[in-house]
Amino acid sequence: MAEGVEGLKLGEQAVEVRGGYVRTRRGVYGPYDLVVIAEGSARRFSGRLERVVRLPGLQVDARIPGRPVDEMLVIYDKRISDEYFAWVVHIDGDVYRIGLADSGAVPQKLAKLLKALRAEPVGRPFGGGVLAGPPHGRVVGPGYALVGDAAGLTKPLSGGGIVLAMRSGEALNEALRKGEPQLYEGATKALRARLRLAHRAYWLMYRRGLVHKALEIYNGQHFVAVDYDDHLKTLAVAAATTAKSLKALAEALRLLL
Ligand SMILES: Cc1cc2nc3c(=O)[nH]c(=O)nc-3n(C[C@H](O)[C@H](O)[C@H](O)COP(=O)(O)OP(=O)(O)OC[C@H]3O[C@@H](n4cnc5c(N)ncnc54)[C@H](O)[C@@H]3O)c2cc1C
Repeated sequence: MAEGVEGLKLGEQAVEVRGGYVRTRRGVYGPYDLVVIAEGSARRFSGRLERVVRLPGLQVDARIPGRPVDEMLVIYDKRISDEYFAWVVHIDGDVYRIGLADSGAVPQKLAKLLKALRAEPVGRPFGGGVLAGPPHGRVVGPGYALVGDAAGLTKPLSGGGIVLAMRSGEALNEALRKGEPQLYEGATKALRARLRLAHRAYWLMYRRGLVHKALEIYNGQHFVAVDYDDHLKTLAVAAATTAKSLKALAEALRLLL
């Protein structure tokens, strides 16, 4: 996507950032007033600043012959993913993108999932780190700014961060155009507060296992997703529509206490 963007050098790996200079395997660049860390979930540089939960994720495009999956499937099954979830997304014809994120043994679990779905891979597995937050408490520091995954700006309940990466890049660009990088800190403050709250929900649902209990409690119930970008809002609105939520709330309190 970035090909052809003026001033951008592709294929360069930054190995050190110090004193306003960036060192890559090919040379040293700078001096710069500010270095934008946009390294995704690699966390080579951002990992030195703050801690963000990073789960290995792996997916593969595979054919599921004669078994159409009409909707996007999100699978919560401890045997497939103990600490996150698996997904099946329709790509084209009978080809689906099948993947999962978890704390370990991800290739083995993906093989198990493919076997259970009787899916035949049509490509090579690919993936990376899925971040479950919390977002960085500070996204602008002396001589640097963080955007996207590097800033921990992902939705902790899904690991999704494409839109947030784009929006944070836009917000930083706006602040830099005004010559005030600190404006970026303020521009992302409300978002980061929301994501921090969602990270607590991640901890309760995935680490303490509320999601599995909740699925049992709400079994057979249908909900409307009111906001795909705000999972907490969607969950809260859904919970408000059924009396079963009292039981789910009691379960949440039991896990919290
Ligand atoms: C398996 C999987 C499935 C996902 N599915 C979804 C999804 O369905 N929806 C969604 O919204 N999000 C999804 N995500 C998350 C999404 O990919 C990220 O949130 C998003 O790509 C973050 O964008 P970014 O620009 O911050 O980082 P990236 O897109 O990771 O870009 C970072 C770039 O920096 C480069 N880089 C890293 N280190 C260096 C270095 N030292 N020097 C130079 N370059 C470097 C990398 O090569 C990469 O090109 C998924 C993630 C995974 C792993």
